[in-house]
Amino acid sequence: MLRALESSELHVAVYNPDDVLVWGNQAWNDTWMRGRTPPLPFTEMVRQDFAAGEGIKIDCNDVEAFLADILPRRHAATRRSFATDRYDGTWLWMTETRSPAGWFLTIAADITPIKRAESALRTAHDDALQAARTDVLTGLPNRRFILELAAAEIEVAAQRGSPCAIAILDIDHFKPINDKSGHAVGDAVLRHLARCGTEFLRRRDRLGRLGGDEFLTVFPDCGIGNASDTLDRFRDRLTARGKSGSLPVYSFSAGVAVARPREAIEAVVARADKALYAAKQAGRARTTIAPED
Ligand code: GH3
Ligand code: MG
Repeated sequence: MLRALESSELHVAVYNPDDVLVWGNQAWNDTWMRGRTPPLPFTEMVRQDFAAGEGIKIDCNDVEAFLADILPRRHAATRRSFATDRYDGTWLWMTETRSPAGWFLTIAADITPIKRAESALRTAHDDALQAARTDVLTGLPNRRFILELAAAEIEVAAQRGSPCAIAILDIDHFKPINDKSGHAVGDAVLRHLARCGTEFLRRRDRLGRLGGDEFLTVFPDCGIGNASDTLDRFRDRLTARGKSGSLPVYSFSAGVAVARPREAIEAVVARADKALYAAKQAGRARTTIAPED
């Protein structure tokens, strides 16, 4: 039985009631001892490991603070388990058991593969979520995500009693750009609007692509007049840049509405859409405010 313990893959160590390491199996010695031999007080071992940049990772970078933090818990518990990582990047699942007489048994299992798989899974999940929210062409929030963001901002505005304006932008005569200059130039115009919009708008404002040549902007804490002026200045900026750049000059029409407290996003969008239609009817390259606002 002792031979099984000695040759186990689990790291097994025994500390006496004074917290001095008195025995470790082969796996323990290989991983933790670096040629040191028992008896070795636990605190001494931790200090030496820290000085050598080995052993358990000490996040606060202060070994005495670390010891002051863990020793009461180490000495109080009769049994506890936790995951810990080492400076060499490995992860261990530690189980500590204290006998009534104060002898302390530590068993550590290497869980590095599980931790790596967990981390890969988390990254894959984050990537998938990001992809599900992003418009591939422009890198902006896609239709579903910008509508979610807008709905969340409307809720925040209702709680704060502040206004939140929502605008829909549609590029004017976009079809002829595609037809005359090609689809790739059309794509470049969409990316141009996305990039300039992100640069131009406040950090708190949100811009997303609804689809085709249609975009949605959320202006938190912003009344109808401000939102409308911002859109007009953005249009001027786009036109000025367009003239000096390689892309065809283009403009957009916009319809803007201020969300009523807790108004459903679909309802606000419908009102902004009506205003957008009016802007197109009135000759394009302008911003129209929803009639009820
Ligand atoms: P209006 O001024 O009334 O908005 O006219 P418009 O020519 O812009 O017409 P509309 O908004 O209806 O046309 C949108 C066009 O956008 C139609 C479609 O071929 C084109 N389109 C949609 N998605 C993309 C895309 O990802 N890339 C490119 N290049 N074109 C797209
Ligand atoms: Mg259009």
